[in-house]
Amino acid sequence: MEKSKKRNIALNYLKGRLKCAEFALTNACASKCTFCSIWKQSPKVFVEREQGLKAIDRLAEFGVSHITLTGGEPLLNPHIAEFTARATKNNMNSAVLDAAPQLLLRNDMIGRLEDAGADIISISFDSADPETMARSRQIDNIMDGIAEAVARIGRTSMKSMASVLIWNENYDRLDEVCAKAQDLGFDIISLNYPTFSQSSVYELGGDGIDMPRESVVSALEAAIRLKESKKYHIINSAMSMRNIINFLTDPATVKYQCHGGKRVLFVDWFLNVHPCMQLPTSLGNILTMDEKELDIESCNACNMSWYRDFSMLFNGWRSIPALIESATSVGWL
Ligand code: SF4
Repeated sequence: MEKSKKRNIALNYLKGRLKCAEFALTNACASKCTFCSIWKQSPKVFVEREQGLKAIDRLAEFGVSHITLTGGEPLLNPHIAEFTARATKNNMNSAVLDAAPQLLLRNDMIGRLEDAGADIISISFDSADPETMARSRQIDNIMDGIAEAVARIGRTSMKSMASVLIWNENYDRLDEVCAKAQDLGFDIISLNYPTFSQSSVYELGGDGIDMPRESVVSALEAAIRLKESKKYHIINSAMSMRNIINFLTDPATVKYQCHGGKRVLFVDWFLNVHPCMQLPTSLGNILTMDEKELDIESCNACNMSWYRDFSMLFNGWRSIPALIESATSVGWL
C-alpha cells in the first residue's frame, strides 16, 4: 500500500473520523449465484461517471479511507477504472470485487486497475472443486479463469484476495478451500459469514446459505484454528470471528457492537447511503447529505462479516488487541 494511503488511514483514525465504505456500482451481474438474487433485478442500474466521481470525493470528505467497489459485478460498470483512480487520488485504499474472472481477462482490465492504483482485486472463491465453483456461479470453466486472473495479478503491484463465502458446500471443508486458494496463488483469503437476516436493500440469501447456525459456528471455529496456525493468510481477525460466534450463540453476549453507518457504510447504485447491506434505512444521498447524519447508534442485529469485522476497530481501548491483530495481518507491524 502506498505511504500516502497508510498516512491517510492513520490520520483519520487518530482524528476519530476513519470510515470504510462499500460502494455498489451496478446491480448488473455476470454470475447467477445461488446465494444472491441481485442478478435477477430489473432494470439494470449503473452509477454514472460524474455522479460516481463526486460520490467518491464526498466519501473521502467524510473520512472514508478504505473503499470496496462492489456490485452486482462492478467490472460491468464502464467507469470502474476511473472510479478506482478517483479513490486513489483521494488516498483511499481500494479493493475491487469480481465474481466473473473472464471480465478481468478482457480489455486489459487488470492493467487498467493497476494503473488506477487499486490495492486489492478480490475474487469470489467458494470451493476447491471446479465443478462446484462453476455450478455456484453459473459460469463454465470458472476455475481456469480464476487461475489465469490470479497469475496475472501476481505480476502486478496489486494483491489478489480469495473472497470465500461460508456456505452449504464448504462450511466443513474450509481447510481444503484455503489450500486450493493458496495453491492458485492468492495473496490473501477473506471469509464471508452467511447472514441470517434478509435485506430488502441488498438481496442476499437463498438455498446456498440455508444452513443451521451450528454449522456456521463450527466453520468459524475451524477458521480461527486455521488463522492461528498461520497456515494461510486469512485476513479476518480471530477476535472478530469469536465475536460472531457469540452473536450466533447468544446475541446478548456480544462484546463488540457493529458501527454500521457511523464507521462502516454502504452506498447503493442510487447513491443512497445505508448503515450496511442489511438495513433498508437510508441515511441520505451521498451527494447531498451531511456527515453528521451518519452518527447513529451502534447495532447488533446481524453477523455480516465486512461490517462486523471493521467495527472491531472502533470500540475504544477494547479495540487495541483487534487493531494489533489487523495491523499485523496486513503487514503494518
Ligand atoms: S449489525 Fe448487521 S444490521 Fe446492524 S449495522 Fe451491522 S451489518 Fe447492519
